Amino acid sequence: MKILVLNAGSSSQKSCLYDIKSLDNIIFPPSPLWEATIDWTVSSNYGLLKVEANDNKITLELPMSYRQMGINTMLNTLKEGETKVINDFSDISVVGHRVVHGGNKFSQAILITEEVKQTIRDLISLAPNHNPAHLEGIESIEKINKDIPQVAVFDTAFHRTIPDYGKIYPIPYEYYEKGIQRYGFHGISHEYVAQRTAEILNPTLDSLKLITCHLGNGCSITAVKDGVSVNTSMGFTPLEGVMMGTRSGSIDPAIVTYLMREYGYDGAKIDKILNKESGLWGISEISGDLRTVLEEMEKGDIKAKLAVEIYINRIQEVICSMLPSLGGLDGLVFTAGVGENSAFIREKICEKLGFLGLKLDTEKNNQFCRDKDIATDDSAVRILVVHTQEDWSIAKQCFGILH
Ligand code: ADP
Repeated sequence: MKILVLNAGSSSQKSCLYDIKSLDNIIFPPSPLWEATIDWTVSSNYGLLKVEANDNKITLELPMSYRQMGINTMLNTLKEGETKVINDFSDISVVGHRVVHGGNKFSQAILITEEVKQTIRDLISLAPNHNPAHLEGIESIEKINKDIPQVAVFDTAFHRTIPDYGKIYPIPYEYYEKGIQRYGFHGISHEYVAQRTAEILNPTLDSLKLITCHLGNGCSITAVKDGVSVNTSMGFTPLEGVMMGTRSGSIDPAIVTYLMREYGYDGAKIDKILNKESGLWGISEISGDLRTVLEEMEKGDIKAKLAVEIYINRIQEVICSMLPSLGGLDGLVFTAGVGENSAFIREKICEKLGFLGLKLDTEKNNQFCRDKDIATDDSAVRILVVHTQEDWSIAKQCFGILH
């Protein structure tokens, strides 16, 4: 079964094609037949399309003015030229979309109907940067072949199991009734790494208490008990929780009203400050990219060092805040760009958490880690690095729905 996965963001479009015959005995995800990314941030005039298939790589500039045409150009490389892997779009059995916001409605992946599209549209005000891009992807596929089934896999769905006392904010109840609550994000990643951790450690997922740390440009931390999400750091929007590349994470909400009152800032200005000008970028005044900030810290930059210290401290605080929801801890799991690649950050996070019974094996931590247990043999809590595979997880869920 050929499964196309579309992962559309505000500034990028990632896509890949899997060919799956069965899910039995698959431990490591297979390599996709075809992979493509469009980066809309490289220039104000064009987007950059990169495609890889059949051991060939192509790069194309796409006009910025008409994004849907860019998606069509990307999709055409599936059946034309040196990256051709199918004869016709009808060879694709199903298209799976990562959808960031499913609100309260969806607790699992679902076949896309007009009603599902309308719900994604209705949720645009909660995910203004993402849900329009998802609709763009869904409609692009409808235009090339309206008979291909499409499936939405929601980043919010995994967190539907968070109990009311964890998801309802202590503000007047009427706002909860109006949809203001903690939704949580990165659910596809947290669910996948929790399942993978159980496979690596060998017990079943329904007997594990895990804290999964998705540390990328966006960062979130989730408590997973017996396979389900019981708490997570992101909330009503992906701004809450730990400090991120350019996002502040949680701050005293009175700072917002103070800035409005004293400086005359409006909502758009505050949104920009907290989402785009804060986090590692805001403190270091150098970059929101952790690698760059770490390099400057090594050269002696004081603000870079402070940014890294705040980043680590916030993560440690949030990890500890997950403990009451779990009532114990079997494993701490690191994933995504920072979590998978920065031995330094993992070591610093674990350094002050020894009282939880976790001991990092520094030698293992400094080696290339992928789907590995990096705790010492006598550590009471396992520490893992798991490569997140959101696209593979979406493909598996599509296979499950159609098979
Ligand atoms: P996204 O959330 O956009 O998917 P990623 O998961 O790719 O992002 O993570 C990007 C982040 O990972 C960037 O801040 C980058 O600097 C960081 N990163 C990647 N490799 C390393 C590394 N070796 N050391 C430190 N940070 C790294």
